[in-house]
Amino acid sequence: MLYASIIIDISHENVDRMFQYRIPDSLQDKIGIGTLVSVPFGNGNRTRKGYVVELSAKADYEEDKMKEIAGIVPGSVTADTRLIMLAWWMKERYGSTMNQALKTVLPVKRKVKARKDDVLPTGSLPAAGGTVLNTDQQRVVEAFRCAYDAGDRTPFLLYGVTGSGKTEVYMAMIEHVLAAGRQVIVLIPEISLTWQTVLRFYRRFGERICVMHSRLSAGERYEQFDRARNGKTDIMIGARSALFTPFSNLGLIVMDEEHEGAYKSEMTPRYHAREVAEKLSRMHNAAFVMGSATPSVESYDRARSGIYRLFELPNRASKEMRPASVEVVDLRKEIQNGNKSIFSDRLRELMADRMEKKEQTMLFINRRGYSSFVSCRACGEALKCPHCDVSLTLHNRESQYGLGRKEPTGRQGRMVCHYCGFQMELPKRCPSCGSPYLAGFGIGTQKIETLTRELFPEARILRMDMDTTSKKGSHDRLLSSFANGEADILIGTQMIVKGHDFPGVTLVGILVADLSLCAPDFRSAERTFQLLVQAAGRAGRGNRAGTAVIQSYMPEHYSIRTAADQNYPAFFEKEMDYRSVVGYPPVCHMLCIQVAGKEEELVTHMMESIRVAVEHNFGTGVPVIGPVPAPVYKINDIYRKNLYMKQKNYDILIRIQKYVQNRWDETESCRRLTVQYDFS
Ligand code: ADP
Ligand code: ZN
Ligand code: ZN
Repeated sequence: MLYASIIIDISHENVDRMFQYRIPDSLQDKIGIGTLVSVPFGNGNRTRKGYVVELSAKADYEEDKMKEIAGIVPGSVTADTRLIMLAWWMKERYGSTMNQALKTVLPVKRKVKARKDDVLPTGSLPAAGGTVLNTDQQRVVEAFRCAYDAGDRTPFLLYGVTGSGKTEVYMAMIEHVLAAGRQVIVLIPEISLTWQTVLRFYRRFGERICVMHSRLSAGERYEQFDRARNGKTDIMIGARSALFTPFSNLGLIVMDEEHEGAYKSEMTPRYHAREVAEKLSRMHNAAFVMGSATPSVESYDRARSGIYRLFELPNRASKEMRPASVEVVDLRKEIQNGNKSIFSDRLRELMADRMEKKEQTMLFINRRGYSSFVSCRACGEALKCPHCDVSLTLHNRESQYGLGRKEPTGRQGRMVCHYCGFQMELPKRCPSCGSPYLAGFGIGTQKIETLTRELFPEARILRMDMDTTSKKGSHDRLLSSFANGEADILIGTQMIVKGHDFPGVTLVGILVADLSLCAPDFRSAERTFQLLVQAAGRAGRGNRAGTAVIQSYMPEHYSIRTAADQNYPAFFEKEMDYRSVVGYPPVCHMLCIQVAGKEEELVTHMMESIRVAVEHNFGTGVPVIGPVPAPVYKINDIYRKNLYMKQKNYDILIRIQKYVQNRWDETESCRRLTVQYDFS
């Protein structure tokens, strides 16, 4: 390599300003990605420091005008060096440009506006005082301490049922690492990042903690990262981007709820936080601990083959907390018996019982990929967004007026597209056939609230969904008011099953367990199992026994049966059988190439030529599936198609990705399209 691209003043904003320099012969084998160098810059003989972010054998402009690197800055492996090296690794592994990768790892530099302090819901503060670890917990912590002190950096997978005290275990591990003078990153999926969780850490570790969540402004995020850079904090808690905290001596990464889908980024580079955490921990010689009550199939498979060390916490931490008993109700039989309501007889009976005993109930609807849409009873057409290939969702007026208030009479709802934001009034007649018989279908959370009120008029009901939690702080407020016993029934989507402790809940109703099974995703059975186990885990966290009722149209499906038995290993066996037969991860790796554009024919044409080129160049050993329309084919008038390739060898997929990208860059008509790569 003869030339190096350098960024002076490394920050997100300056990523587009790279300058190419010649590498003198004497430094040829001393300079790599992330090296801090001094270079002549601007007029006169001034030198500045800058980071090497790319190396090339090709000069971007005339060589005789190019300046030369003056030297390497001594002692120059900084936190930024490691972030740049990490960005390079992400670019290679996930198929992005270096620019995109740097923008992902570097914070946006911005001044912080004077901030109004958020009002914290302190009412639900957990009881003070540390817990003494039980023998199961001690065994894990002891193994961690030994491995850590011996320099063994094999990642830990902690498989512990809900309420088994994983958080206490993490905190004991963190203490050990802090005592060695090193820093810690704690990853929590955004959805579980409630004040209740954060407060537990505050109570233990005090002011040395920083919290990073998506509702911070860019300036606030920058400020948090800056505190870490300047050694003012030791523990960063946050969602996946907390990985990019510039700690100088990182000693441990904890990843709670490691199975969560939110750990995968949806922006290029589409990285998975688990993989990046593993890489980062190796770069720092730090420990890496993952935990879950329902480990991802990938991680459990790795634990079984010895790549991770597996630890189990099979029981709830305190003896008073008994696991919930789980009942499965077959909804087909309910209909046969003439019950067309969304509540089975059994669930209704248990809800009435809880109302009487003044205990709390949670009703859970897994609404992802599903919503209340409106269709015509005459012609059957659903009302669709004119720009996207999805049904519009019906929002009642009520949601705009706040919880519990009545809709202004005579007003109908609005139709909203959840993909592009398009809105319209609910039409009086069907746009296709003109019939006036339009009707809402499906059960959204609002509908469930209405039906629950009809059944239990005296119940105090809270509802949690996108509408009631869009305001800053409302998520935490709703959860803590329920935890404080200010309502009898909490209705919500997946956001109610994560993170928060509700000691008063003794009944959990899962209204239609199969909804997530129908999602067009090879992980749909895994997601369903995880959601059901977690939802059931919400029942009986206090000292009273709890019951979970799973209502389902497919009670014989293995993900529902094993969830009802709370039997993860049984689920894992079945799921691995399925993945082996069809060749999905972790049995194979998969690359999805998605091409998108406004011209449908051009998208199709380009996908075909990619398929032919890959088959021609990589031979029959690389079967290509597709092109097929993406699960949502059209969004915002843009058409999207996918090609899938499965391989045991990840490197072959990377070679394919690079090959496609090179041809793409050389093809004129590709300027009117976009391409994205997604590895799994
Ligand atoms: P998890 O993260 O595995 O769901 P938590 O760490 O939240 O579990 O613990 C669940 C509850 O049990 C918490 O209220 C916690 O304070 C309590 N707990 C944890 N460890 C113990 C212990 N050794 N003895 C008694 N209670 C415990
Ligand atoms: Zn019609
Ligand atoms: Zn739309």
